[in-house]
Amino acid sequence: MYQAKAYSAASETSPLAQDSIPRRATTDRDVQIDILFCGVCHSDLHQARNEWKSVMPTVYPCVPGHEIIGRVTAVGSAVTKYKAGDLVGVGCMVDAGHDCQHHHGHELFSPDVALTYNSPDRHGTAPVTYGGYSESIVVDEHFVLKIPENLDPAGAAPLLCAGITTYSPLRRAKVGPGSKVGIIGLGGLGHMGVKLAHAMGAHVTVFTRSKSKTDDALQLGADAVVLSTDPDAMGSLAGTFDFILDCVSAEHDLNEYIALLAVNGNLTLVGAPEKPLPIAAFGLIFGNKSVSGSAIGGIKETQEMLDFCGEHNLTADVEVISIQQINDAYERMLKSDVKYRFSIDMASLKQT
Ligand code: NAP
Ligand code: ZN
Repeated sequence: MYQAKAYSAASETSPLAQDSIPRRATTDRDVQIDILFCGVCHSDLHQARNEWKSVMPTVYPCVPGHEIIGRVTAVGSAVTKYKAGDLVGVGCMVDAGHDCQHHHGHELFSPDVALTYNSPDRHGTAPVTYGGYSESIVVDEHFVLKIPENLDPAGAAPLLCAGITTYSPLRRAKVGPGSKVGIIGLGGLGHMGVKLAHAMGAHVTVFTRSKSKTDDALQLGADAVVLSTDPDAMGSLAGTFDFILDCVSAEHDLNEYIALLAVNGNLTLVGAPEKPLPIAAFGLIFGNKSVSGSAIGGIKETQEMLDFCGEHNLTADVEVISIQQINDAYERMLKSDVKYRFSIDMASLKQT
């Protein structure tokens, strides 16, 4: 065991502050990683502030961060896929039982899964797992991803959550040339959804409340941008979308978007607001429409997404910050004032 520098929240109302956390000594199956960058996901804010208390209450201190890019510094004797110096990533999961791949190809659905932070630590190093707002991490080889070397590490970090969370439902919906896809909310997830759906060949429409994001949305790959606060623009699109991906972090009206689905269309929720969102039954019934949810993606699919991004030279648009700016970054994220993901340069922590 060793101590690593980290940033943690001490309670749901505390700002994040510098801390020291235990990391386990590398076991046979482990990869030790020096963290270079960590993306800032809205889930980090939800959990640091205990906004998901009814589903997964936060245990403090909480070290968020599940969009991790780093270099391997050491590997255990049974590790075959990685060696010191490799550029690797870690996303939202770090551990599970040995049969974890059998759960529908998605480790998250294993009853023993450990998320990257705020999950019981199966190794007993600490009461809960601690995430990527830290200088290093030790992770079971199965949960470590290869990062294509052509990708910029700061921009690649958000692929580990925002990338896979949007890639997986787009693939499940068989999005491709000829598909009409809507993306709601141009934040970290939403902007990756636009880039990925565009790269898959779909016709992409962005729904945003922020008029100022119109030009960016088009540059990111959208074919059309609709101001969701404009009832005429919304009404003119009724019944026209095969698939809509909802990436919104706060309460909003789903029924407005269900009305935009074509017959048999699907709206998938990846955004996870704190409060339930009401749905009018008839909006779904007339048109055999469906609403579903989607959780990140399995490790195999995450590697597939990373390789896809490597081939298309696709990364997140990031604003690189120091760890000391994290509390300000949370406030700006709440105001949708980020283009389009914060990525923390962990050198700022190591220098302290
Ligand atoms: P983000 O960067 O803050 O983006 C959220 C976007 O939602 C904003 O940019 C904004 O877009 C829109 N929005 C915010 N408040 C709104 C409101 N009151 N009404 C309507 N639209 C609003 O957040 P993120 O990191 O992309 O995460 C989005 C959500 O996905 C979070 O709830 C997060 O926890 C969740 N998440 C889920 C998974 C999963 O596996 N399902 C994985 C990661 C994250 P505009 O300015 O364009 O309107
Ligand atoms: Zn996330």
